[in-house]
Amino acid sequence: MNLDRITDLAFQESPEAQYLLGINKLLNESEQYEGIYWLSKAAKSGHKVANYTLGYFYYQGKYENNYSKAIYYLKRASNSNYPQADYLLGIANYFGHGCPVDLIRSKELLETALQSCTLEQSEIIISTLLIQNIITESVDKKLENIIIENIHTGGNSTALRKEYNVNRIQRNQKLVSKIKKLYDNTCQICGVKIDLGNSQFYSEVHHIRPLGSPHNGPDVLENMIVVCPGHHAMFDLGAISINLTSKSVLHINVDNPINGKKISILHRIEKRYIDYHNDFIFGKRNLEAK
Ligand SMILES: [Zn+2]
Repeated sequence: MNLDRITDLAFQESPEAQYLLGINKLLNESEQYEGIYWLSKAAKSGHKVANYTLGYFYYQGKYENNYSKAIYYLKRASNSNYPQADYLLGIANYFGHGCPVDLIRSKELLETALQSCTLEQSEIIISTLLIQNIITESVDKKLENIIIENIHTGGNSTALRKEYNVNRIQRNQKLVSKIKKLYDNTCQICGVKIDLGNSQFYSEVHHIRPLGSPHNGPDVLENMIVVCPGHHAMFDLGAISINLTSKSVLHINVDNPINGKKISILHRIEKRYIDYHNDFIFGKRNLEAK
């Protein structure tokens, strides 16, 4: 369909045509005003992507930095189930962009967005990070500039990758939820189940051969173990490993009380991932990687 035909249809009140025309104009800097006009018309008719696009556009501040307008359109997109809108609203609620800071709402929105499995990798890192910060009550304002930069560049921020340990990216949220459920959020190493109140519990999932460079481990159940944050850190930093045959913990300091302790294994863990951990991580603390 050519642009003339789309323009005709837009004047005939077709939301899809208004959206397409709006996007087309938005791409040309001198026509942004018109682009916003047509997108707003489509958005008003309930066009989900038009609502999200306007929300994202105002959040980015490329045309006009206006957080309250961003929130208005993102809420409309979120109400029609658009996970990327939940993601941006989650960030807005975390930092108080265009709305009061609301960490409970922020966590809900970020979790909803994560469950959709449609987020980009950088969005998954940000969501996981903010949820972890909310849970550990260490809300970090310093993140704001990095995350804003990431929104402005559409997710190409290298600062984010440098700043955070990509080993903790939980790419496959469905598998993560599944294994946490299997162990009922109980650390396989120490048996602790962190109680958050309101019948909510918290656990983390460690990838035995870590995800991302340089380890490039796979995102599969056979490479996962459910842990508490403390034992997660001990795996990451190479302080502990496990013996699959005797189903017990190995601590790098053999005198540590946890060394030799029996652990819970209810799913199949592949030995080659433990071997990798033992060869490259266990006892080989590399602080640079943190
Ligand atoms: Zn533990």
